[in-house]
Amino acid sequence: MTTFQVSTANYAEAGSYLAGGVASSLRASMKPVPLYAESGKGSRIKDADGNEYIDYMLAYGPLILGHAHEGLTASIVEAMQKGYTYGIQHQGEIELARLLCEVLPCADKVSLSGSGTEAVMLALRLARAYTGKSKVIRFHGHYHGWSDSIFTSFPSADMKGHASSGSGSVLPGTNGQSESSLSDIILLPWNDPEVLESTLRERHAEIAAVITEPVMCNSGCIHPAPGYLELMRSLTKELGIVMIMDEVITGFRLAIGGAQERLGITPDLVTVGKALGGGIAISAVGGQEDIMKLIDGGTVSHLGTLNGNSVSTAAAIATIRELSKDNGAAYVQMERLTDKLTEGIRTLFAKHEVPAVVNQIGPVFNVMFTDEPEVIDFETYNKRDSAKYARFAELVLHEGVLLRPNGLWYLSAAHSESDIDGTLAAIDRVLPQLK
Ligand code: PLP
Repeated sequence: MTTFQVSTANYAEAGSYLAGGVASSLRASMKPVPLYAESGKGSRIKDADGNEYIDYMLAYGPLILGHAHEGLTASIVEAMQKGYTYGIQHQGEIELARLLCEVLPCADKVSLSGSGTEAVMLALRLARAYTGKSKVIRFHGHYHGWSDSIFTSFPSADMKGHASSGSGSVLPGTNGQSESSLSDIILLPWNDPEVLESTLRERHAEIAAVITEPVMCNSGCIHPAPGYLELMRSLTKELGIVMIMDEVITGFRLAIGGAQERLGITPDLVTVGKALGGGIAISAVGGQEDIMKLIDGGTVSHLGTLNGNSVSTAAAIATIRELSKDNGAAYVQMERLTDKLTEGIRTLFAKHEVPAVVNQIGPVFNVMFTDEPEVIDFETYNKRDSAKYARFAELVLHEGVLLRPNGLWYLSAAHSESDIDGTLAAIDRVLPQLK
């Protein structure tokens, strides 16, 4: 029987010094207790009690090469031996920026920050400065970081927030958020072409940007309806509105050029983070020249003490090179194993008569316990049994499989055939206990 004594003691001790007991609020929702890591290697992570798990949480997405990847570690160490950050410029910034412009379809130029939240803040600022307008359309179920101006309520089991009315009202995502911060947000249902078109046509004179996840990874891994993103692209172009694709999850995960490449839609601006640094903090905004040039001369301010530091740029360069190797062989392998895993999971759910839906794109997927035959919008997503999923995640944890408590799974290039077989065997053992 797996035990968690050390993690339990650590969490109790952390509560005395660390506000909330964890460094990012979401992590507190893990059951039976927020785990403490000892180390990670490849697809495996060890906790402080000595338990080892096949890791599908992957630090909420960044570890696309797995834990402690040798080549990535060597690049980081090499950079660190020359200093960590300089405050003046270095060649790595140019090299990374050039690479990003090569691989991200919409990027004539890029700018570098530390987190996805900061990248989104900059993209919104650029859009407002470029259009001279202030409103921003965002969608139910999407997440764009926790800054005051975009963090709306997000009714998901492992994200704290108020329940959304679902009617388009905009509620703050947290207590303490400035009351006026969301006054520029127009909240719409996603994948609804009529609502999008009528809102854009009626209100385009005040709308600076539409921001969207290209695939609704944060709520059910729901795909865009056929033609929906194309419509968003053509309407925003026609009406002088900046289209921002938030690829903090999908960037470098669905393909080297992200969802833009995979789905064939080129926005005006893209935000990337997470997988870009392979686990080291870095994010970027990429976009067309006439928008990005607003940063020249400080027309739009973009600041940050550690932006583009030499360790993070070395990590991002090494990650992109590794993912690009052999014509993107890592993507082919991740996708093949993810297909095998999701097919196996569906077969086991059928065998044990557990009603569930698995939505997948590339090496990311969402498992939802639901009686709905499919989950294709935020409404059906909200009908899932999230308490049952949390129980499932806890049961498989005891079998050596680490999952995020809200249904989203990631695979890395380090996952193997035997990881998949071991995971399916673990699921087969726990499903009888789930009913
Ligand atoms: N955008 C999307 C689509 C995300 O999923 C996230 C984080 O999960 C963010 C932005 C914020 O990124 P970060 O947590 O690095 O600030």
